[in-house]
Amino acid sequence: MGKNGALNGEGTLNVAVIGAGPAGYYTAEALTGTERPVNVDIIDRLPTPFGLIRAGVAPDHQSIKNVSRRYEATNQRDNVRFVGNLSLGRDITLAELRDLYDAVVLATGAGKDRPLGIEGEDLRGVIGSGAFVGWYNAHPDYKDLEPDLRVASVAVIGNGNVAIDVARVLAKTASEMATSDLADHAAGRIHGAPIRDIYILGRRGPLEASFTPKELGELNQLENCVALVDGTQLPDASIDSSLSGAAKKNMAAMRAMATNSPDAKPVRLHLQFYRRPMAILGDKCVCGIRLEETKVEDGKCVGTGVTEVLPAGLVVPCIGYRTSPIPDVPYSERYGHFENESGRIADGLYCVGWAKRGPTGTIGTNKPDGVEVAQEILGEVHPSGKSGRAGLDQIVQERDLHIVTFQTWKKIEAREEAGATAGAPRKKLVDVSEMVRIAES
Ligand SMILES: Cc1cc2nc3c(=O)[nH]c(=O)nc-3n(C[C@H](O)[C@H](O)[C@H](O)COP(=O)(O)OP(=O)(O)OC[C@H]3O[C@@H](n4cnc5c(N)ncnc54)[C@H](O)[C@@H]3O)c2cc1C
Repeated sequence: MGKNGALNGEGTLNVAVIGAGPAGYYTAEALTGTERPVNVDIIDRLPTPFGLIRAGVAPDHQSIKNVSRRYEATNQRDNVRFVGNLSLGRDITLAELRDLYDAVVLATGAGKDRPLGIEGEDLRGVIGSGAFVGWYNAHPDYKDLEPDLRVASVAVIGNGNVAIDVARVLAKTASEMATSDLADHAAGRIHGAPIRDIYILGRRGPLEASFTPKELGELNQLENCVALVDGTQLPDASIDSSLSGAAKKNMAAMRAMATNSPDAKPVRLHLQFYRRPMAILGDKCVCGIRLEETKVEDGKCVGTGVTEVLPAGLVVPCIGYRTSPIPDVPYSERYGHFENESGRIADGLYCVGWAKRGPTGTIGTNKPDGVEVAQEILGEVHPSGKSGRAGLDQIVQERDLHIVTFQTWKKIEAREEAGATAGAPRKKLVDVSEMVRIAES
């Protein structure tokens, strides 16, 4: 059979993609988009598909989440299956998967927060963005995080869009979040919090920040919160005309922030540049952060020796992520992802997305990765008569594993949509057992 409908016969290539995020879906789409008979099982440890589209992308950025419709279309193909609530490592080993499938593609993302590597980062109240964002986005791993938000001041470390997301979600009012899918448990805490100052701290200057103009510009439009920049940290206005499109827009937004009055709104969001975290301070809980002033010389960030203490009751480092290692898979400790050459790890074993190249780029950046690896697989892996999905089904049955299929995930989705308050897209469920119960009902 051709496109969209492989049979599991002798000539069918059986591929397991581990991870149902963007990288996994783009790979499955490319693998099943030719006339070659290919079956793809997309396996995820969660009962829900779409990886960080659900658990990372900000709850008030629903239009970005619409990309999942494309992945749904991939899942409509007869030769693509979603197998949720099945964890590589917990429920099945890599060796078993490699016995069952002609090729295995690791699309497991980068789910662990990169540590700051400074004193005090284990204090209560220091919460990496992976955990913090996971918590407000209802990722089951973080449902019991219970961050103490009874604080006046928050330090968000990092100068990328994740730092902006975290600051904005903390700054927005309940009515601004009414059309979002912010987790219920997070809404209660965030909207009752006495936060008055939020700092976004960057080691380098405004020109080196990797914000995108849309996300930065949003900070100038918050109902209850005024965005502030110290104008002396901005470069001379004479350089503006030489800046490229995005940098020019960012500079215009920051120049506007430099003219804002700190008293304009009850909450202040400070973008502070040239500040390097030296230590996180506190006894059991964080109470502040020691920063060193920096300057940028020849593109390098160097310390000036001048330090200051910023009071903060919550510190959220947004400085990147690392892939979780898998036994017997070569792993780069330096870069925090699997060792690979253009996505190839070993015969029949590949990686894509953040597990391949680290946590960089946008959702769309994962597409070329997926296409490249799919082409490699189609070019060099040949059907060997392995049992593929039939073999997986047998293991699932023998181990009494409660997997969620795309059809049964739709029951979870329907329940979430039915539970939504007016204007919101869904009320996210957060408990895996409850989701599995609904899927099996
Ligand atoms: C906070 C945040 C906000 C973002 N916002 C945007 C945005 O607005 N716009 C944009 O373009 N990009 C955004 N991104 C980037 C985008 O989310 C990533 O580029 C993309 O999700 C990476 O795709 P991936 O498939 O490699 O990883 P992921 O999306 O992380 O998917 C990995 C999947 O693997 C599964 N998995 C992990 N381990 C196992 C295992 N052992 N067994 C089975 N399954 C496993 C996970 O459950 C997960 O579903 C954001 C990222 C973050 C962190």
